[in-house]
Amino acid sequence: MQISFWGQTLPQLQQFFAARGENPAKAALVYESIYRRGQRDFAALIWLKEPLRRALDEHFSLALPQVIARVDDGESSKFLLRLADGHAVEAVLMRRRYGIFLCLSTQVGCNMACAFCESGRQKKQRDLTAAEMLAQVLAVEEASGEKVTNLVLMGIGEPFDNYANTCDFLDIITAPEGLNLGPRHITVSTCGLPQQIRAFARRPRPTNLAISLHAPNDALRQQLMPIGRAYPLAQLLEALHEYADSTGQKLLIEYVMLQEVNDGAEQALELAQLLRGLPCTVNLIPYNETAHLQFSRSSKERTMHFYDLLKQQGMSVTLRKELGAEAKAACGQLRAEILSQPPEQS
Ligand code: SAH
Repeated sequence: MQISFWGQTLPQLQQFFAARGENPAKAALVYESIYRRGQRDFAALIWLKEPLRRALDEHFSLALPQVIARVDDGESSKFLLRLADGHAVEAVLMRRRYGIFLCLSTQVGCNMACAFCESGRQKKQRDLTAAEMLAQVLAVEEASGEKVTNLVLMGIGEPFDNYANTCDFLDIITAPEGLNLGPRHITVSTCGLPQQIRAFARRPRPTNLAISLHAPNDALRQQLMPIGRAYPLAQLLEALHEYADSTGQKLLIEYVMLQEVNDGAEQALELAQLLRGLPCTVNLIPYNETAHLQFSRSSKERTMHFYDLLKQQGMSVTLRKELGAEAKAACGQLRAEILSQPPEQS
């Protein structure tokens, strides 16, 4: 049975050659041809002996997921991609002044069940493989004709609930012999799993890390995010300090602004207190309202007041520009919408 080439780390591909008594250094040359020169046919690698080309062809598929829906709003394009087993995942391309960002999914559905999130309603059906994560990048590049310069793992799913595949994917996409995307051009976003955060800190060439915090205290966080019941904030903060210490990096703290839920003045002060001493930037995110959930977006006034209070406390704060609202960029929205439509008659 064929397996996807897109899931092969360089050491795994070296192993493929070594197992056939071939020089493993050929793996890097194959990586270069496929990833850097865009070759999409093993038969064209004429510098390899014919039986090796045939073996590659027999073992590895270079297939990409099919784009089954696309919504554009100028600044962003959202793609719904169909995987080999029929499941669908979303990827959103966002064009910004400082690069072309792709927001990727890491699971089909999500088990974290955050109260405000559309993906949480959809439940996890399965993990994505490293190959499926990488194939999202290539499928979107092919469909859009644009080159992705930055990645955010903020689509559907919890990357650290699919830790090994996420790490393999990161190894493949950052390999200098392959796509060579800089780890500092990648942001992994997690709802906060302390053990995985610690393990991630110990990896070579760490990426940026974003934490979905969304609440300044345990009581509220536990209402909004069930994961907060398993790991209280004290434990999460300890892991974050460790990440910052061992990588020398600043963390990104995501805080989605929910009207009259987590956006009060006292909560801003509580948040500043909680994060004191942690090298981080707080990113205030406008909530994308969804038809199925009862939360609303904080008003401009409340958001600005919250922002000002954090600033006065000496925090580094940014306001996320609203992008992709028309492209239904909120987690899981396009997928929920398309999948809830009756299938087209043909
Ligand atoms: N599971 C990971 C990554 C996926 S969610 C995580 O929790 O970080 C990406 C971000 O979008 C998270 O911060 C999530 O809380 C936020 N989010 C989910 N639904 C949203 C919505 N409707 N509007 C705005 N942000 C949302």
